[in-house]
This record gives sequence, C-alpha cells and structure tokens, in this order.
Amino acid sequence: MEPINPDGCDYMQLTLHLTNQCNLKCKYCFVEPGPERMSREVAFAAAELGMKNTNTSGLLFYGGEPLLEKQLIYDIVDYTKKINKKTGHIFYYKITTNGILLDEEFLKFSRDNNLSMSFSHDGPAQDVCRIFHDNSGSFDALAEKIPMLLKYQPYATGMCVIDPSTVHRAAEIVRFLFDAGFRYITCNMNYSEDAPWTEELLAVLGNEYKKMADMYLNLTRAEEKFYLSPFDIKIMSHIKGDKYHTDRSRFAMNQPSVAPNGKIYTLSRHLNNPAFEIGSVFSGIDFAKHNLIYEKGASTPVTCEECAIKSRCNYVYDILSFDGNDYIPDISPVQCANEQILTPIADGVAQKLFDEKNALFIHKHYNELYPLVSFVEDNG
Ligand code: SF4
Repeated sequence: MEPINPDGCDYMQLTLHLTNQCNLKCKYCFVEPGPERMSREVAFAAAELGMKNTNTSGLLFYGGEPLLEKQLIYDIVDYTKKINKKTGHIFYYKITTNGILLDEEFLKFSRDNNLSMSFSHDGPAQDVCRIFHDNSGSFDALAEKIPMLLKYQPYATGMCVIDPSTVHRAAEIVRFLFDAGFRYITCNMNYSEDAPWTEELLAVLGNEYKKMADMYLNLTRAEEKFYLSPFDIKIMSHIKGDKYHTDRSRFAMNQPSVAPNGKIYTLSRHLNNPAFEIGSVFSGIDFAKHNLIYEKGASTPVTCEECAIKSRCNYVYDILSFDGNDYIPDISPVQCANEQILTPIADGVAQKLFDEKNALFIHKHYNELYPLVSFVEDNG
C-alpha cells in the first residue's frame, strides 16, 4: 500500500463537527451528545489546514446537527471564498443534516455556493428511530422540507439507516425516498454493538435486499438514472477488482474528522478516542501515525484470508479498534453477514443487466467518464 505523502494528502476533505448538540436523539447516533461547539478560530484553522499541498479541498459540515450552527457555516464559506480570491484555492462544501432546520434562506445559500447536501431520513419508518427529545417522531416536521430541499438541491443525497427495528421496511424506505424525488440514495446498516441483530432479522435483511434488487432492475430497465448504495458500491467492487480496497481506504484516509475543540481523528466514529487522534488544526496532522493506522486498516484480517469475497468486502480501515498495544481489525459478525448476504444479490442484478446489454448500466459502470457526463447532464 502506497503511503501518503508525509507532508500532506494529495486531496483532503475535513469533516467538521461544528457541534455535538442535536435537535433529535436518533437511537443509532454514534456522536456523544454534549454542549461542545466549534469556534470560528478552530473552523478557519481547519479550512487552512486542508489547503496544504493541494489546489482543492473539501469541508463537510457535520454534527450533531450542523444547522444549529448556520451562522458559523456562513462565516466559514465567506472566509474560504476570500482565500479563494487571494490564492485560487478551490473549496468544496458538503453538509449532512437531519433537515429539521432547513429553510429557504439556507437552501438558496447552499445552491449559490455549491454546498451539496445529504439528508438523513428513514422514510415511513422515520418515527421509529429519528425522534425529538420529547420522544415524538420527526416525520411530520419534515413533510414540507423535502420538496423545498429538492427544489433547490435536486441531486441531494437521501440517506437512510437500516436498524434491526426497521429492517422489515428497508425496501419501502428506499422506495419512499425515490418517490419523494431523491436520485442518490444511500443505506447504512446500524452495526453498533448494542443493535440487536438476530439470524431471523438478517434473513429479513436478505429479503429486503431482494426487493431492492427488483427495484434497481426495473428502474434501470426504465432508464431512470439513480444511484443506490449498497448496490452500486458492490457492483463497483467487482469492476474495480484489486483496486477497490486501495481506493476505498485512501478515500477514507483523506477524510479525517475535526472535533469541536480542533483535535483531529481518523474518522468520525473514532472521535475522542486518543488511539485515533492524529493531530490538531493548530499543530497539523501527524502523518506518521496516520500512515500507520492506514496501513493497518488496509491489511486483510486473519479471519478473512480464506474468504472468496475478501477483495470486495468493506472491512477496510473503518473497522479498526485499538487493544492497548496495536490496531486490530474488529469486524462484527453482523457486518460480515451483511457482506455475504448482499454480494450475491447485487451480482445477480449486475449479471442480468450486463447480459441484457442494458445501455444505462454499462454506461454507468464501465464508462470511466460517466460521473463527469452524469454531472454535466444533471447540472445542465
Ligand atoms: S465477508 Fe466476512 S469473512 Fe469475507 S472478507 Fe468480509 S468480513 Fe471477512
């Protein structure tokens, strides 16, 4: 595995945890709630750190709920625009939000500043896990926000979480997001240790993936352009072959997370864990430590060596934990089961579309220029 440049990454996207506060208390949230908020000083130093050795860099506004810090977002964008005028350095902006505080003013601002948006929503199962502090559901509060969001951000990503309590509705959730107008949909599993997955629920997950597979087939045959992780990622892992893990771990590595106090961690999931602290926005990144973690994260776990799908599995990088002496891969049995369930279903879909010589499928997965062409089509 090629180490990163000891003086800096070739491209860096910093995840800025603007606040640890949130207006929801989603059951599967991994961020420790607290009063911490990022200062302008920390945020501006982070923006400058991301510029090192590159012409472009990214800032992902994250939380808690980042829209609780709208003014800080306006200030960061303003500050980086001024840097751009002086130096030519290009900043990309993203935000991941629960959407409760979205309004026309912020959406116009995001459109005018190319701030791309990921919107977390569990569709018809929203009120099961995504609840307010008084335990009431948040579905109704978002009913008006979705069309408003898509009016300004037609290619916003809709992000859902598959939890043991909602898994039986997973395909319905994806369909809801598609019917609402989202064309980029991601589904993440709740892999936390206290998520009560069982054999029966994993069987339900398999059935739900089969329903999503039918949806993927039918929509692609109807020439509907859309992106659905986890299917598109699994199909990509087949096409990329050995390069898949390298690309995935480098992608993860180039996206460190900044805590409200300015300390930098390898990933958001590792926030406040000293074993994964790799610097601060004021002193810079310890690239020797970052490289060490990266190399450990890219190596194959012993338990996976004989596995037929190991080159396509998402075990890389983000499953590391620290046992007091060393970084060790810590993939949960549920993650492993998910990989084993999903891969053949996604492959079945891909094989059918490939055999049919489906033009959209082939264009999407075999044309290296597709992301660019698609972007131009989407943005006129
Ligand atoms: S599917 Fe399981 S055994 Fe195979 S590589 Fe992934 S985690 Fe390892």
